[in-house]
Amino acid sequence: MLSLQTPLIEVKGVGLKFGEKFKKIHVQTVKDLLWYFPFRYEDFSNIVLIKDLKIGQHAVIRGEIVSVKIWKSWKKRMFILEALVSDSSGSIRAVWFNQRFLITTIKKGITVNLAGKIIETKGGLTISHPIHEIITASKRNANELRHTGRIVPVYPETKGLTSKGIRFLIKPLLDNIGKIEEPLPKEILNKEKIWGINEAIHSVHFPEKIEDAQEAKKRFAFEDLFFLQLVNLRQRIKLAQEKAHSSDFSIDEIKEMLAELPFELTHSQKKSLWEILQDLKKPHPMNRLLQGDVGSGKTIVAILAALVLAGWKKPFDAAQGKQTAFMAPTEVLAKQHYETFRKFFKKFDKGAGLMTGSMAKIFYGDDLESDFKKSDLIKKIEKNELKIIFGTHALIQKYVKFSDLALVIIDEQHRFGVKQRAELLKNHKTNKTIPHLLSMSATPIPRTLSLTVFGDLDLSIIDELPKGRKEIITKIVAPSNRDKAYAFIRGEVKKGRQVFVICPRIEQTTDDEGQPVKKSSWLNTWENVKMVKEEYEKLSKKVFPDLRVGMMHGKMKAKEKNETMRQFSTRTIDILVSTSVIEVGVDVPNATIMMIEDADKFGLAQLYQFRGRVGRGEHQSFCFLLTESGSKSTHQRLRSLIEAKSGFELAEKDLAIRGPGEFLGEEQTGVPDLAMKAVRNPELVKSSRQAAEEILQKDPELKIYPLLKNRLDAFQKEVHLE
Ligand code: ADP
Ligand code: MG
Repeated sequence: MLSLQTPLIEVKGVGLKFGEKFKKIHVQTVKDLLWYFPFRYEDFSNIVLIKDLKIGQHAVIRGEIVSVKIWKSWKKRMFILEALVSDSSGSIRAVWFNQRFLITTIKKGITVNLAGKIIETKGGLTISHPIHEIITASKRNANELRHTGRIVPVYPETKGLTSKGIRFLIKPLLDNIGKIEEPLPKEILNKEKIWGINEAIHSVHFPEKIEDAQEAKKRFAFEDLFFLQLVNLRQRIKLAQEKAHSSDFSIDEIKEMLAELPFELTHSQKKSLWEILQDLKKPHPMNRLLQGDVGSGKTIVAILAALVLAGWKKPFDAAQGKQTAFMAPTEVLAKQHYETFRKFFKKFDKGAGLMTGSMAKIFYGDDLESDFKKSDLIKKIEKNELKIIFGTHALIQKYVKFSDLALVIIDEQHRFGVKQRAELLKNHKTNKTIPHLLSMSATPIPRTLSLTVFGDLDLSIIDELPKGRKEIITKIVAPSNRDKAYAFIRGEVKKGRQVFVICPRIEQTTDDEGQPVKKSSWLNTWENVKMVKEEYEKLSKKVFPDLRVGMMHGKMKAKEKNETMRQFSTRTIDILVSTSVIEVGVDVPNATIMMIEDADKFGLAQLYQFRGRVGRGEHQSFCFLLTESGSKSTHQRLRSLIEAKSGFELAEKDLAIRGPGEFLGEEQTGVPDLAMKAVRNPELVKSSRQAAEEILQKDPELKIYPLLKNRLDAFQKEVHLE
């Protein structure tokens, strides 16, 4: 008996040869194949009389093969099969190229449907290289047809798997699979007017009308989004059942803390801080994402939250005050955050520390700071003598057992899956509590994505910059104006300003199926390093021999990077040539020019991030986007960087142009696909969320929906949310 779980190779007609090919595209069971959906349809439903055919038309005809011949064209070096086909109204030539094997099927006397383009040749009207379908007595009914005489599905083709081949296999599967169990609750189908699974699976492959195919696809999109929402909501429920440290604080205490700062927080900083503090009061773990443009001041908000937990102003006491791990993606940034902390909170007397691969420092409120041995620092953390520890993302994964970790802050790392977030928290359970989690990102996540893929997170948004920031003047620079740009740079440097030059990114290589090749990622890094070195040579020797040019790339040792960054921030370097390692967070207020080579190779969101490196000080800043491309659409895309009012607007655009991969990274294979569905169907996102909420309210454990629960578990595995 055929079931959804039947391995594909056991299906008649598949065999080992096709089985292998399907395996390559991860299609291994009957279910996989039935869920391999067409990406478009060809409307071959109208059979046209031969006398009514027009040149250039894509048409389907039905007729009898009157004669067949085959010959080899020496000029074209291929076999040509030619047949004469006639119906009640006339006859026409049909020609196939390099399909020698057809001689055994296209035989004199049979009736065929032919679908193809009508062209004019020396031999008269011809249907060129048509799709054929032999019409037997049973196939006179349109529903029996697979390839012609109906709306025909067109599948994504890969080597050796043609649309025709796939149609050939799918049709009998659909006819023999019987009734598929419906995983979605009936009340939801009714309420959302969503098609049932059986109707949908037939119509997605062989629709009677194009609209039916759309309805069918909508059902599957809804199903996926609904599952995704269920995963997210259940994650939230789970987290709400866990315990976390609940902290108590007074408004006065907060006010006093804010008074230490040399500036007033912006309105949205205050609001975000407040939202975070409300979460920290609760006895359940926070899972919040703090979003805000580069330079909007997220760091200080996070530091303030950590200080509240550490016990601002209370006498130092190892037993009191909770620990925070503050993690950044790079050492440079971890150090910068630590410096920010030192700058603003000299009075802090609870001890803060910095620990990265190359550095271990401890800071006490009297500003006594010394280089520590890492092992000593770790001991202090384990004894709860240090409250706020800055480090890289490895901090809580690798080094340390915190004795009383209450908050984990992760900077610039929105590319976390639900699973990683959950794990991160679980691994640091102390005394039955798990830490609160605050992630921060300058890449604004478009709303459709935050409602789906990031639906397990609460959001705080900083949507204004601190007062007094000047707008950055952004220009697209054609190759012919390169020298002008260099001259301008020289002028600014002479005035005392500094410059970033970002080198282009080498796109990651992909295999035949368009999947990124993991192995070569280190190769790309080397390629990128090479480009930076070349650019550095050119700028330091030829263009600006009189200026101090530095270089930074991902293959440099942490020490070298730190040293270079130090030189840049202390103005010993005028121009810093870099790969995208500079992308996140770095704060050098005296840098006023951001020059990006081959800007079109980067996504808008990333360009936006680069630009955010400048415009942080009192001087007017500039961003030069160099591009060799003359393409109108490229220029339009780059121009949106000039026109967009906010990072959110750009993110939405980027999402529309490049798809969600940019936002989600490559690891979560199933998710970008889902996210794409979300992006295309914003209204489904809403309704699926509502539906998921209703179901979980009624039945949080999904006890009365066992089938739904099963499918949900499978779904989680499929999209790697497990
Ligand atoms: P983000 O991490 O959001 O990109 P940062 O936290 O690095 O931004 O802040 C950028 C700069 O602005 C820092 O030098 C910070 O001290 C400063 N800053 C933060 N908040 C304010 C504010 N409300 N007013 C003035 N300057 C601020
Ligand atoms: Mg930052």
